Amino acid sequence: MGAETTKHSPLHIMFFPFMGHGHMIPMVDMAKLFASKGVKTTILTTPLNAPFILKTIEKSKTHSNINIQTIKFPSVEAGLPDGCENFDSIPSPELVPIFFKGAELLKEGFEQQLSLQNPDCVVSDMFFTWTTDSTAKFGIPRIVFYGFSFFSMCAYECVTLYKPYENVSSDSESFVITNLPGEIKMTRIQLVEYLNIGVWVERLIKLRESEEKSYGVVVNSFYELEKDYADYYRKVIGRRAWHIGPLSLCNNDKEEKKYRGKEASIDEHEWQKWLDTKEANSVVYVSFGSVVNFPDSHLREIALGLEASGQQFIWVVKKSKKDGEEWLPEGFEKRIEGKGLIIRGWAPQVSILEHEAIGAFMTHCGWNSTLEGVAAGVPFITWPVSAEQFYNEKLVVDVLKTGVSVGVKRWCPFAEMDDSIKWDTVEKTVRKILAKDEEAEERRKKAKEWSKLARKAVDEGGSSDLDLDAVIAELDSLRRVINIYSIK
Ligand code: UDP
Repeated sequence: MGAETTKHSPLHIMFFPFMGHGHMIPMVDMAKLFASKGVKTTILTTPLNAPFILKTIEKSKTHSNINIQTIKFPSVEAGLPDGCENFDSIPSPELVPIFFKGAELLKEGFEQQLSLQNPDCVVSDMFFTWTTDSTAKFGIPRIVFYGFSFFSMCAYECVTLYKPYENVSSDSESFVITNLPGEIKMTRIQLVEYLNIGVWVERLIKLRESEEKSYGVVVNSFYELEKDYADYYRKVIGRRAWHIGPLSLCNNDKEEKKYRGKEASIDEHEWQKWLDTKEANSVVYVSFGSVVNFPDSHLREIALGLEASGQQFIWVVKKSKKDGEEWLPEGFEKRIEGKGLIIRGWAPQVSILEHEAIGAFMTHCGWNSTLEGVAAGVPFITWPVSAEQFYNEKLVVDVLKTGVSVGVKRWCPFAEMDDSIKWDTVEKTVRKILAKDEEAEERRKKAKEWSKLARKAVDEGGSSDLDLDAVIAELDSLRRVINIYSIK
């Protein structure tokens, strides 16, 4: 049974995702999920991002409960090229901080929409730290959506509070993250907090301050996956939080999955026909999310490693034919014909991961990808780059025990890349994850168990379904209090 929200007018929640696919995709899923429980939802975005969202929700049964509103993103005033409204259209890494700064210019439009739409609650992206103050002006509770795991949020907190990286004297010496359950070991150059990369650290401080002033946090995760960390976050760190994921599982329909994010660059029949000819668990799916852009030299190492492994693969590369083919070793595509499929552009990731031929996922450990892999029941090759991805790697490899690390040593901002991973490491890791030995079978078995638990969590009466009902019920009673005292 859904939470009771329709006694008077339905509860109205406004969702405000950051303009990057890794942020928009889960928040649109979330809006669909709330809408499926009878909540009126509004998704706020900028004009050039609206069509992606519209395409996704059009396929949803709940679309009549979802409304899209747009506010102007003054990209040119911010110092960005005209039409640059999404993280993946930023033409060069130097413009990344300008994009973030530009996002602050959305404040006026956001406040106008608050006044027009008058929602009962706003769920806004972690990067929109200023929405805490804006919503407070209107007496509207703000809930933060990080798009992180509980594990990463706890790890950030413990690293920030206890600075365990100060206890080592070299970059290769590992330390245990103080107080974080599970004896998690890291090295200091895997932490942006130690590397002290200016804008990132500033951003983290702001995130934390704004989270403390917000009403709570919704988490794209499920309790069974990271019990210790969900408990630590709520009971020790003391935040109000609800786990309502894996959000990707709200897309039951084939068509809904197909239009998640961007339109796929490959015809459905092509990849499906290709995978249908492969044995179960025999193909590695290689993708590094919507943002990571490896340089050509790096891509060549991946190509050589995949080829040398002799294993089958689907590899998503953010390139089109017109970018030139310097990144491809000569004659590569001819040699791998039948063994490897390259998707240039955007892949229908969730649909591909769910195909039984997929036996592993080589990922940068973005949390959406990680959780989508968990839900699909595949083991991982972990290749973190930046953000909170090194923490996610630890969760997958050391806690869930479903991954093998390629061994990236250094956290890197967008403008740089750790290019220490060479083709022979790629080869070795791919062979290891797809092996038929006991260790690989054990990882496979665990991955399938996590997948079962993920699906159970979102089923009626499962842990995520119940927490979704709980947050709706709490917001509903909160609006009554707000209305009685006319705070709004
Ligand atoms: N994604 C996709 N096709 C692609 C690349 C990415 O569907 O070709 C989706 C993926 O399923 C995930 C999101 O984009 O939902 C990427 O989010 P993640 O947190 O993994 O990484 P980010 O892109 O934010 O670094």
